[in-house]
Amino acid sequence: MAGMNPTAITADKKRHTLTIRWDDGVSVQYPFGYLSAACPCASCNEERNDPNPLKLIKPKSSVLGAIVPVGSYAVNLIWEGGCHNGIYSWAMFESLRAQHPEWVLASQKTS
Ligand SMILES: [Zn+2]
Repeated sequence: MAGMNPTAITADKKRHTLTIRWDDGVSVQYPFGYLSAACPCASCNEERNDPNPLKLIKPKSSVLGAIVPVGSYAVNLIWEGGCHNGIYSWAMFESLRAQHPEWVLASQKTS
């Protein structure tokens, strides 16, 4: 399952999902709230790994402001009023797809 690429990425701001169509013809809907909470940047990782139970965790913005392509392997998701640094790689989306079969929309495979 390694090395798949998206053929289309669209944000549905009404349903708060990011839809990725993969090159195997499968479309997957990723909830904004999940993606923003899973922001892979260094400072969000640090915040999630902080063992201090009394620390106030800032609520994450899950309003998607922009999708910025990063090379041919990732996108930078800009959360409005939230984190601007998260680089979400295809590998990350691919493993989320494997973990969340309920997000898979439909397969347009003809064979
Ligand atoms: Zn972040």
